[in-house]
Amino acid sequence: MRLYFFGALFIFSQILTAQEKYPQNVFQSPLEIPLILAGTFGELRSNHFHSGIDIKTQRRQGLPVLAIADGTITRIKVSQWGYGKVLYVAHPNGYTSVYAHLQKFGPEIEAFIKKTQYKKQSYEVEVFPDYGELKVLKGSTIAYSGNTGGSSGPHLHFEIRSSVTEKPTNPLLYGYEIRDATNPSLVGLFGYPLSDDAIVNQSAKKIQLNFSKRPDGTFLADKITAIGTIGFGFNGFDRQDMAANKNGVYSVKQTVNGKVYSEYDFETFSFGETRYINTLIDYEHFGKFRQRIQKCFKEPYNRLAIYKTLHNNGKITIKEGLSYSIELLISDIEGNDTKLSIPVEGKREPIKISKSDKKTDDFIIADKPNNFDLGAAKVYFPSSTFYEDFYIDLKKGNDTVSIHNNSVAAHRNFTISFDVSKYAIADRKQLFIARLDKGMEPRHSKTYKRDGSFTTRTRTLGTYTLAKDSISPTINARNFKEKQWLSNYSYLSLEISDDLSGINTFSATLNGEWILMEYEPKTKTITYNFDDKILNKTQCDLKVVVTDNVGNSSTFECTFFRK
Ligand SMILES: [Zn+2]
Repeated sequence: MRLYFFGALFIFSQILTAQEKYPQNVFQSPLEIPLILAGTFGELRSNHFHSGIDIKTQRRQGLPVLAIADGTITRIKVSQWGYGKVLYVAHPNGYTSVYAHLQKFGPEIEAFIKKTQYKKQSYEVEVFPDYGELKVLKGSTIAYSGNTGGSSGPHLHFEIRSSVTEKPTNPLLYGYEIRDATNPSLVGLFGYPLSDDAIVNQSAKKIQLNFSKRPDGTFLADKITAIGTIGFGFNGFDRQDMAANKNGVYSVKQTVNGKVYSEYDFETFSFGETRYINTLIDYEHFGKFRQRIQKCFKEPYNRLAIYKTLHNNGKITIKEGLSYSIELLISDIEGNDTKLSIPVEGKREPIKISKSDKKTDDFIIADKPNNFDLGAAKVYFPSSTFYEDFYIDLKKGNDTVSIHNNSVAAHRNFTISFDVSKYAIADRKQLFIARLDKGMEPRHSKTYKRDGSFTTRTRTLGTYTLAKDSISPTINARNFKEKQWLSNYSYLSLEISDDLSGINTFSATLNGEWILMEYEPKTKTITYNFDDKILNKTQCDLKVVVTDNVGNSSTFECTFFRK
């Protein structure tokens, strides 16, 4: 009897749907406007899965951001990059809500963080208030929406994490309503010959496959012939009803003759595994075409835990004379499905497109450390920098070295060390390591300088060079002039800019006292808010100092009056 009881419980826990695991309608909306998404959870981004939802804010900033439930603020961070200004609120039910790219915080939190900024004399700060020190009530305004950090337009990035594991979960599993009756869109379908003997449509390498829409709304691929172990991949997106944004899909299921071979979804993932996105997508294809194909098979080096079901890692072995019915089911979180059938005939046919194994002089053994001397620089790849063995394309040069290209993903940092002993010590100061981007523009790569050698650590393959920055940053007043009366002004705005190595530090004083300048790199703007400090002198001497990444420095001085 007892055994039966526990057995039943066990079975019950196994069949909980994703929604049933999470509290429903306990959390309120973080905004007062209808939720329209510019990004979904798990969406495929550069080197990571999107860990929250991006809520559109009607192209505006300054919308009240509301606490989704009672809780306490556990973390506040202000950064030029990433999440920008961000708040973390822990709730008693074990979840933490995260609100990012904020314009500013609510008055109490804003006062708290400004105190820290003035104490540390830094715009960028991160604090972890004591539990209960900053309590918030459900529905109270805790911040205002913005566009700070790595955000390319006003929106609210919103997450719900497990407070214990910090794993982000899909916020749409908590009962939030998003209008969505639109099926995911299928853009492209690809066949992958995986075993050495495999062929798909007479091709020994990846090949794009044709498909068409049937009257019932499902898709049918043209019949393919294949032999050996093969796999499939697709690219597509999901669109909600109220916006044109191309968002990520929720789940993907691949069946072969009715049996599930692979199935994954974006219920949750961990930050520790997010970079393995580069093994889920066809990274080489992404490097060439900036288009993300999601593979329906799992590579041996793919450590993602997003898979619900796997049979033969989603790889399909096609035998001569047999027919296979393969189906892809691509779904959004509201249950709108896009179904694609792929009929496969097992048939050995002559190869028309052969494998293009590009061999070079140098070979990477992924599970061993690899060292190369490129003349001007040495490159060191620690063990497991890469996912698999490959021929690496290396080019030597005087001050420039080329380290393969963006068709291969590096999982870990590797180091590049340039020999600078031929440069006089005085000349080395303005030199730095730069990566040449697509337009051959030098991009500063954080350079560690030691006697005779400069080193950088990076996960980006490509061309690296020694660049020289001899020009100091520029500083210009935006909304005031020398000797001006600024009594009615609420803020000071200046433009700071650096042509090559980029801005490293900035600081400002008024009558010798440090003042907080908020920095927005996207608009090259630093801003001082007069509310921060009561000035007890009519004459104000402003001094701003900006340095670039090689230490070139500029000073701006201005006197103004204020009552
Ligand atoms: Zn986001």
